[in-house]
Order: sequence, then C-alpha cells, then structure tokens
Amino acid sequence: MKAETGFRLTYATMFNPPETMHTCFEEALVRVRTRLGGEHGLFIDGRDVFTADKFEDRSPADTDVVLGVFQKGGAQEAAAAVAAAGRAFPSWSKTPWQERVSMLRRAAAIMDERIFDIGVAMALEVGKNRMEALGDAAETADLVRYSCDRMEANNGFINEMGCDPLSGFDSRNTSVLCPYGVWLVISPFNYPSALTGGPAGAALVAGNTVIVKPASDTPWTARLIVDCLRDAGLPNGVVNYLTGPGSTLGQALIEHPDVAGLTFTGSKAVGMGIYRDFAKSNWVRPTILELGGKNPAIVSRHADLDDAASGIMRSAFGLQGQKCSACSRVLVEAPVYDALVERLAPLTAKLVVGDPTERNVYLGPVINKSSFHDFQNYLEEIGQAGRFLTGGKVLAEGAYGKGYFCDPTFVADVSLFHRLWKTEMFVPITLLARVASLEEAMAIANDVDYGLTAGFYGAEEEASWFFEHCEAGIVYANRPQGATTGAWPGFQPFGGWKGSGASGKNAGGLYYLPLYMREQIRNLVRRG
Ligand code: NDP
Repeated sequence: MKAETGFRLTYATMFNPPETMHTCFEEALVRVRTRLGGEHGLFIDGRDVFTADKFEDRSPADTDVVLGVFQKGGAQEAAAAVAAAGRAFPSWSKTPWQERVSMLRRAAAIMDERIFDIGVAMALEVGKNRMEALGDAAETADLVRYSCDRMEANNGFINEMGCDPLSGFDSRNTSVLCPYGVWLVISPFNYPSALTGGPAGAALVAGNTVIVKPASDTPWTARLIVDCLRDAGLPNGVVNYLTGPGSTLGQALIEHPDVAGLTFTGSKAVGMGIYRDFAKSNWVRPTILELGGKNPAIVSRHADLDDAASGIMRSAFGLQGQKCSACSRVLVEAPVYDALVERLAPLTAKLVVGDPTERNVYLGPVINKSSFHDFQNYLEEIGQAGRFLTGGKVLAEGAYGKGYFCDPTFVADVSLFHRLWKTEMFVPITLLARVASLEEAMAIANDVDYGLTAGFYGAEEEASWFFEHCEAGIVYANRPQGATTGAWPGFQPFGGWKGSGASGKNAGGLYYLPLYMREQIRNLVRRG
C-alpha cells in the first residue's frame, strides 16, 4: 500500500506508519463493527450458496462476539465447486493472458481500496495487531501484482526455441507454459488474506480456475479477498470459495479426481497427510506445500546486541508467536549471552498484550482454545525443564477474561536434548541457549526437520558464512526489524526447505509463477 505520503507499507516499514493509517483504521473499525454477525454464503459458480449446517466465527479476543455465521460445506459442495471450476476452465485458460493480468491487477487495486476494512476484519478474526493486519492485506495485493509482473516480464511464458537444423524444411519450435485446470488453495488461519489471495492470484494469472478453502477459524477474511476477485469481474466459476471442516470438506477436495493441482499452506502434519492422499490418483498432480518452521536466530560475540534484541523480540512475539517464521530458538555465543538477556527482558516487559484493534497493543490473543491450552501445557512442561526469563503465565483476569491471551515468554536453561527444541509450538514461547561457537550454533540450527527462515547477528564475514551453511529458504543477517520474520514479495520471496516446503521456489519470487503451469513444446514443420 502506498499512501499519498509516499509511505510504502511492508513488514519492514510497519513499525513507523504515518498517522493517517491509524485514523483510517479507526474509521474502518467503526464501520466494520456495524456489520458483525451477518451470514456469509459459500461462493460457487458466481452465486452465494447456503447449506443446512452452519458454524459461528467468534473473536479470539472476546469469545462473546460473533463475527459472522458461515456455511459448513461438505462433499456435495466440494463436488459442485469442482464442477463449476471445471466448466469455467476452457474459457478462462484461453482468455489472452494480458486480459487475465488486467483483471487480476484490478482485483489488487480493489484490495488496496479495501485495505482498512480487510485489516480490521483480520484484527478481529485472527487477533493480529493493527499493523500486522494491514500488512497481511497489503501483502495480498502485492503478491497478486507480483504474479502479474512476472507474467508480463516473461511475455506470457511463450518463447521461441531453436529451429531444427534441417535442409528442405522450416521446423519451428515454441515453448508455451499452459495452466493445469482446477487449482485448489487451502490456507491456514494465521495469514488468511495473503495465503489465500497470493496463491489464488498466481493460479488465476496462470490461467487455472480456483477453489479456495480457508481455515475454519478465519473464513471471514478469506471471503473478503474472494469478494475483491469477484468484484474485479472474474467470470462465474473462475474463483470459488468453500468453508467447512478440513477433515471432511478439505479431504473431499483432496480426494476429488478433477482437482488438477494444489497449494496447501499449514502445519507439517496435515500437509504431509494431504501430500500422501493427493498422490492417490492416476497421475502425479502438482503439489505446492508451505509448511511449518522452527526458526533459529544465531547471535555472534561480534553482534550489535541492541539490533539483535529488537529483531529477536519482534520475531518471537509478533502475531503472538503464531507465524510460520516466528523466531522460536535463539543460540547465543557465551560471551554475549548475559548481555543479550539483559536487553531482551526489559524490551519484552514493555510489550502491551490486549485488544488487537487498539493502537498500542503488540500481542493480541492466540487463535483459539486449543492454542491457549497448548500454551498452558508447554508452560507446565517448561516449568519442569527450564527457567522463565519473561512471561510464563496465561492472562485470564479482568479484560483478558473473555479471550485467549498469553504472556510473551522467553525461556532459558532447557536442555538442548529436550523435545521442545524441535517442536513447532506456535504460541509466544522462545527458547534461548548459550553456545561455545558459531559452528555449534549452526549444527543445532540445522538439526531439525524444518528449514523455513533463520536470522543472524554478527560481523559481515560471519554473515556470509551463515548464509552458506544455513539450511533455510530465507536467511536474514543483522536485521533489527525482525530476526526471522518480515518477508515481502519482490524483496524476500517466501518458502521453506526440508519439512518447511515442497517446491523449493519461494512465493513472491522469480520462479514461483511457473509452478502453476506445465510446458508444451509446439513444433510446426513446413516444407520449403
Ligand atoms: P492446519 O494444518 O491445522 O490447517 C491448515 C488448513 O488445512 C486449514 O484450512 C484446515 O482446515 C485444512 N485442513 C485440515 N485438515 C485437512 C484435510 N484432511 N484435508 C484438507 N484440508 C485440511 O494449520 P493452521 O491453520 O493451524 O496454521 C498453522 C500452521 O501453518 C503452522 O504449522 C504454520 O507454521 C503453518 N504455516 C506455514 C506457512 C509457510 O509459508 N510455510 C505460512 C503460514 C502458516 P480447518 O481449519 O477447517 O481444519
């Protein structure tokens, strides 16, 4: 988002927004609050569809507040959406790519126009603080635009190849990237805008038709993004939206033989199950998986400790530790360990936990009761295994009583053999350890199934060594804005290695869009 002030919102710039962003957010809050509790349909073949079974979407900050009522779709709705997307595919895929780009650019512009309403919905639905929520909405539009940019930069991925060295013939070859068909996008609760709209935008620009299935905790935000696509004029059936349980509706979509390709973003456990089930078909279907993380920050004895403390604190507790890129492990060279802890504790003490729509709040609630219980159970386990440097409790009294609020928690002295060093907790808990050398830190950092993001603080020569040895898809050095978080399309394309992602190509980057297309070589021979 680029306001008249020239300010460009990204996760790196969001800490100092112009005043107008707050004013606009507050106006949108008043507007959006008047619409709470409404019923939202599925969106199939250009029509709203209502089912007999419904579910309520409640605010994690105050569970008395019903944000909306949504449809509990199942196998029947899955089949209807696949059929609609299948019918729309021939015409959409044959639409000149320039027209598709123009429609998707219109959708991105509508997202920009609605950024404050979408941001407010996310603050209420996910519990994101203001700037995180606005960032997610702005990122969605930028992801869609980035796919458009790549399509244009590559001339629609139509390229002349060499002519066969034949005499008496003119044998021309053209490489064309073509869409696959009906593309399924399953998104997680924590980035319901960017991780629904980003992959859907790429699939659509490429010429696929799309079905989106958001997380059951965050159907509203995803619906607002689908509305932007609808209002940009996409023909009926080109984008479809289904809500309902992953275990039934999601599974029915995965098992449907007419789904041609899939982008799943979510936990490693669910993603690996989907990967296996999606493979039970007559041929191999393209599968883009973006999974969890256990992201380390390494701090060298040469680090600027103020930058390290700021970056680690922001990445540990932004979105309440519920980012796939959250900094959940900190490995510090022994000579600077105490000095780093001395900086982290007061910085963390200053963080405000509370109603995420309020300006000064950094941490809102965690997403649901199950995450809240996870936090409590981890605290109990850590109580036996280590020492709390900050936090160490749930916040359940007074204003906190109706939501799922957790105290941001840094922990020391947990044995490096403890299981929590390798488990994605997805709550605001980060473990710290003292290490003897950078080599030891790197060995620990890489010794997990995950490989999403990592951060480093130290001298520049050390940073080069860190980049070369770290097994992760996005690696940051000396970044006070976030040790392991804050990627943005076109700047830091986002994707994981090992158990954190399947394609090896990062979203919002140079090589992402072709994942949604298959190559056809066209050889035309003329005598002469
Ligand atoms: P989940 O894996 O629990 O759910 C993700 C999505 O999958 C939801 O829409 C869910 O629906 C759906 N689902 C669940 N079971 C099935 C199934 N059998 N078939 C089809 N769909 C299914 O993840 P969360 O929503 O809890 O998100 C958090 C996770 O996502 C973390 O592990 C995080 O690291 C990861 N993540 C990864 C990112 C990346 O880019 N690498 C980015 C953001 C998050 P329902 O809600 O209805 O169960």
